[in-house]
Amino acid sequence: MPGLEDLYREIILDHYRTPRNRGELAPPAVRAEGHNPLCGDEIQVYLDVVDGKVNDIKVAGQGCSISQSSASMMSQAVKGKDLAEVRALVRRFKGMMSVDDLSSDGDDLAADEAVKLGDLEALQGVVKFPVRIKCATLAWNTLVQAMSELPAST
Ligand code: ZN
Repeated sequence: MPGLEDLYREIILDHYRTPRNRGELAPPAVRAEGHNPLCGDEIQVYLDVVDGKVNDIKVAGQGCSISQSSASMMSQAVKGKDLAEVRALVRRFKGMMSVDDLSSDGDDLAADEAVKLGDLEALQGVVKFPVRIKCATLAWNTLVQAMSELPAST
């Protein structure tokens, strides 16, 4: 019977075929670049933050369907959010993708339970394929890197 896995596959393919927020942004937007050599995935994240909120985000790059659809979903999920919300979402997503024991982050995880993942839940099946986890988290690590490039005043 068609189940959740089929629905998840459809969501991932939809984001892969029709990536959201594809493109580049000119400075003062910051840029970060990530690579996953295991799979050959490349992601560039352009992040424009105004008054502590993600005013705009664009994603470029190439790679497998997991890496590119995760980047598309990430861009959709963080656009318009303030940076604290974005950090909470990153923790929540990486928590979902992690096979490690996260007990040391217990407080954060409890607080992050309230964070809605939406389409991102479609990627949770990837956890069953450990070599693909790096594909799914690449865009998120690149986003974190982009946030670290922001001027201190934002
Ligand atoms: Zn990949």
